[in-house]
Amino acid sequence: MAGQNYRALDPIPPAERRRWRLNNAPQRVRAEFLVHRLDCAQASGDHLLTDQEALRTLADPEAAACCEVCCPETVLRHVLPEAEAPGSP
Ligand SMILES: [Zn+2]
Repeated sequence: MAGQNYRALDPIPPAERRRWRLNNAPQRVRAEFLVHRLDCAQASGDHLLTDQEALRTLADPEAAACCEVCCPETVLRHVLPEAEAPGSP
């Protein structure tokens, strides 16, 4: 019982939740990879990303793009990039 309740009482912090899936992009896509939601029917494999990892990957349009089916960008555009250190350029 205690084991079952542990997760609910100590949830994973949002920043550490891996809720995106990285797959090779189909040839028609210019980017090398596509970022999917975990439950996207187009996604497979075990390469999971956190919000920040997904944002960093998507920062390079030739590296990764958002899946057109599950549209991760509709969620990720509300996620702020990791805070820069004050005073950094
Ligand atoms: Zn998808």
